[in-house]
Amino acid sequence: MKPKRTELVKRARRVRGVVLDVDGVLTDAQLLYGARGEALKSFSARDGFAIKLAQREGITVCLLSGRVAAPVRARARDLGIPTRLTLQGSGAKAADLRRLAARLGLDLAAVAFVGDDLPDLPALAIAGLAACPADAAAEVRDHCHYVCAARGGHGAVREVIALVLEAQGRWHKIVEAGRSGTLRVAHSDSRRLKGNERDDRS
Ligand SMILES: [Mg+2]
Repeated sequence: MKPKRTELVKRARRVRGVVLDVDGVLTDAQLLYGARGEALKSFSARDGFAIKLAQREGITVCLLSGRVAAPVRARARDLGIPTRLTLQGSGAKAADLRRLAARLGLDLAAVAFVGDDLPDLPALAIAGLAACPADAAAEVRDHCHYVCAARGGHGAVREVIALVLEAQGRWHKIVEAGRSGTLRVAHSDSRRLKGNERDDRS
C-alpha cells in the first residue's frame, strides 16, 4: 500500500485532523503495573511538543484507544485534548474514527490515523492518511501509506506531524522559529503549579 512520495504528500496536504492510537503509538506498548495494579505509561515529550505545534497550526489531535487507563486522560489533559476527542475503550476503531471525524466536521480524507496493531487495521483502511510506527505489527506496516522511521513512544507521532506540516509548507517556518528562539506553544496543563515550580512539560 506504500504510495509514491507525491501521492503521500497529496494525502498529507489534506490532513486537518490527526487521530492517534495510544499503546504502541504514543507509548512503546509497554504496560507498567504499580503495586496496587494501577497502570503506568510513559510518553514522549517530543511527541507532546509536536502535538502542541499541530494544534497551533490548526490541526486537531484526537486519541483513540482500545484500553481504558487513567494516565491517558491525564496525558490528554496536559496536551489540551478535550474529553470529547479522547475515546477510550474503543471496540470498533473504524466506527469511532468516523465518529471523531464527524465531531471535527471533517471528511475521512482530511483525517490521519496512526495505529500499530491488528485492531487498528479497519481505521487505517478508511483514513485519508494511514501511518504506523517503525515497530508496528508487520501486518499493519503492509497497510499504511507511511511507515515511520521512529518507534512508538519514541517520536513516531512527531514524525507523522512533521510529515503533515511539511507537506502543507509549514514545517520550514517552524524550524526557523526554533532556530531563532521565537518558537512558542501554549501549555494547557490542568494541574496548578505552585510557587516557582516551572512547567516544561510538553
Ligand atoms: Mg496500539
